[in-house]
Amino acid sequence: MSNKKRVVVLGAGVTGLSAAYRLSQNSDFEVHVFEKEKEVGGLCRSFREDGFILDYGPHKFYTLIDGVLDEMCKIMGDDFLSLEKSQNLFLKGKYFDFPLKISEMLTKFPPHKSVEILASFGVSAVKNLKDKTEPKNYEDFIVQKFGKSLYNQIFEPMANKMFGNPRQLDPQLARVRISSPGLVSVIKQLLSRKSVDKTISAPNFHYPKYGFGMIPEKLKEKSESRGVNFHLGVKVKELKLNNGMLSGISFEDSSGALQTLSCDEVIYTIPMQAIADLIPSLSTELRQACRFVSFRHTIVYYYLLKSQPVLPAMWVFYPESRFRFGRLSEMTKFSPYTAPLGHTALMVDFTCDDLDPTWSMDDGELNEMLLAQLKPLKLFNRDQVIKNFSRRFRNFYPSYKIGYQERVDKIRSLEREMHNIYFAGRLGDFNYNNSDQCFDMGYKAAEHIEQGKQSVESWGELRQNRFEKYRIVD
Ligand SMILES: Cc1cc2nc3c(=O)[nH]c(=O)nc-3n(C[C@H](O)[C@H](O)[C@H](O)COP(=O)(O)OP(=O)(O)OC[C@H]3O[C@@H](n4cnc5c(N)ncnc54)[C@H](O)[C@@H]3O)c2cc1C
Repeated sequence: MSNKKRVVVLGAGVTGLSAAYRLSQNSDFEVHVFEKEKEVGGLCRSFREDGFILDYGPHKFYTLIDGVLDEMCKIMGDDFLSLEKSQNLFLKGKYFDFPLKISEMLTKFPPHKSVEILASFGVSAVKNLKDKTEPKNYEDFIVQKFGKSLYNQIFEPMANKMFGNPRQLDPQLARVRISSPGLVSVIKQLLSRKSVDKTISAPNFHYPKYGFGMIPEKLKEKSESRGVNFHLGVKVKELKLNNGMLSGISFEDSSGALQTLSCDEVIYTIPMQAIADLIPSLSTELRQACRFVSFRHTIVYYYLLKSQPVLPAMWVFYPESRFRFGRLSEMTKFSPYTAPLGHTALMVDFTCDDLDPTWSMDDGELNEMLLAQLKPLKLFNRDQVIKNFSRRFRNFYPSYKIGYQERVDKIRSLEREMHNIYFAGRLGDFNYNNSDQCFDMGYKAAEHIEQGKQSVESWGELRQNRFEKYRIVD
């Protein structure tokens, strides 16, 4: 019998794969990764269709975390392209650089709008000087930073599309998602003529030559070559307990046979609330918390086009409510190797929840709706479309409804009770992360286990001091 510690990793997205890859470098561990899909990669996967390589929404690799880019460059080798970023915002028939530049706001907005934006910002700034109350919700947070006018025109409709009603959302979402310190910094920047702050907007980023999915593929390949066991296309049935600690897992393999495997540690990166289905003895209080915690879903609609690139930037945000989608992106602008010569692929992405009528539209209905909304943008003609279809994904965006924090903390309390489970990643830790942050979390979970730090306080401290400080950089 082996003396190795057996670590079970639930989920083969970037978080789970990074943890497995890091542990595979230490011969004291036997690592098993369990994934419900037949392929690895989760949200970072790519797929092939008629000679195109397509991602599930636009992905850039950019990081502010020390050491992460160096490590990723080692893993990716020559297949990692370094690109200059371009992103736009489309408003009132015009394209703007994003984040917004004051100079563009003054020249491209009608004069009365520019005055209105600056005046409403001034009103907020003065109010904030007198009133130091913490923002109650997403809306308060943004209005305090940018003023009501910019909020109404850009942030509110964008939040409605991506996250739901901004008045019902916790301000923490805005802290994580909107890294810009506000209009004050934009004005200061204009006066000092400094280039855009790298902690607010990435000037450049990395992207794998053949699609973002190369990152998880490489992580799998390297981990597998060092002995990590991958169980793909399996249904995890139960997490077994012994004396209050996790002691094993039962799962249905791809042939439908039920199997069990004992384990010493579990790195949990699948949707947080799914734990209620895996531990039959979970308390009623925890089950209620799991019912509250939810994610929003995403539809990505693809137009494969016989055309040169059609967008003015790699991706463009469309806040106005006349567009059901929030963003268009074009992968050929990331890497020309992702489409046959003379072709391009346009990705339309939007977020839904279960009750949203768009979620239940079939592809034909979606296409008609989108073509009507895309028509005024004059990006392509119907006869240039060689194929169009959607892909739909459940559990993409953590839903930061007011009250989520208390429920998430309750579920995380299992870490302190059990001492051998680690919630990690975008879905597992319910943390609105990008892939670099997931990579970091996966490494940290592995290092924590490696160092034998059974004190969950220190994992809790890591969360507080490191993971909760992650910010999304546009
Ligand atoms: C539209 C969009 C754009 C994005 N853009 C960027 C970007 O530009 N840059 C960037 O760095 N990041 C970006 N991200 C974020 C990035 O995709 C995620 O942070 C990252 O992929 C999350 O990795 P994860 O491993 O935590 O979760 P996931 O990738 O979701 O992995 C979880 C895995 O668990 C599996 N699973 C679920 N349930 C079970 C179960 N019961 N049993 C077994 N397996 C299960 C899933 O199939 C999945 O493979 C974007 C995300 C979206 C949605």
